[in-house]
Amino acid sequence: MNRRTLIKSISYCGLCALGGRLGWRLSEQTWRAGYEIPPIPERPESAPVDPIADEGSGMREPPEPDVPMTEQASYLEKIRDFDRPYDDDFVLDPERFELLRTTAKHLSRVQRVYGHGHFNLLSFDSMIKVSRRYGKIGDFTAEELTFLEEIFARDAVEYGFYGDKVMAEMTAQVPDSEVVKVNGTGHYLFRGEPEQKYEQMRLDLEDQVFLTSGIRGVVKQLQLFLDKAVTTEGNLSQASRSLAPPGYSYHAIGDFDIGKVGFGLDNFNEAFAETDEYKRLVDLGYAEIRYTPTNPYGVRHEPWHIKMAT
Ligand SMILES: [Zn+2]
Repeated sequence: MNRRTLIKSISYCGLCALGGRLGWRLSEQTWRAGYEIPPIPERPESAPVDPIADEGSGMREPPEPDVPMTEQASYLEKIRDFDRPYDDDFVLDPERFELLRTTAKHLSRVQRVYGHGHFNLLSFDSMIKVSRRYGKIGDFTAEELTFLEEIFARDAVEYGFYGDKVMAEMTAQVPDSEVVKVNGTGHYLFRGEPEQKYEQMRLDLEDQVFLTSGIRGVVKQLQLFLDKAVTTEGNLSQASRSLAPPGYSYHAIGDFDIGKVGFGLDNFNEAFAETDEYKRLVDLGYAEIRYTPTNPYGVRHEPWHIKMAT
């Protein structure tokens, strides 16, 4: 099932008008990213040596050609030992990192006030309205909004992430009529195949697995990615090895995560692959794992992430 057809886009005009007043300039790359879905490239032997450095964007300068890349690792080494920096990673400079940190906090305030469940589906336009309405959140500044737009518009290949851009527009809205809230989890699934597959797993595994993350809109993915990038001190490559960059998450179009009941945070590391529940799931034969140990996306092994979207 191709969920892309179900993602309703809201006009970009409101944002453009705002951008015009604030002096935003949408780069050519923004428009490309907005209207094309890049194919998954062949898995490279090693990550690109020369991540881009836009003039004046505050992004890291490319390394000097004569600097030895002592920490440059192969593609497979990077997704195996994913949560550490490498010399050719894409890293924000300190000023941009500070902006990332304050913007991440702002998004978390939205989540706290708006509620974790609903926040999964919140659109970018609604986020702006909600932040304006609630004093506890406060308006996003022009600098923060521009930063969020830049993060969304960037081609994630620059980080070493090779998945599709599944949400073409930042203002895309997950249609309420297409989703179902999964009782007791605070998460949502698309009606139809994802919901049916999840229910089948619960049935086959005697309710010993549950939904740990379902549909995520652009805002939720921005919040998760920025939070992760705070912990990596602005290393966006390192963040993207365990979280898809905003716009690139297959959670937006049908994928979901499952965990074992009572297994806590171990549902999000390799220990999950050692559980009987996971082994039984594999034996059932109908659950496909998106991020296998040798996946082509540039992402760590995620045995809990069920592939639904194509
Ligand atoms: Zn996932």
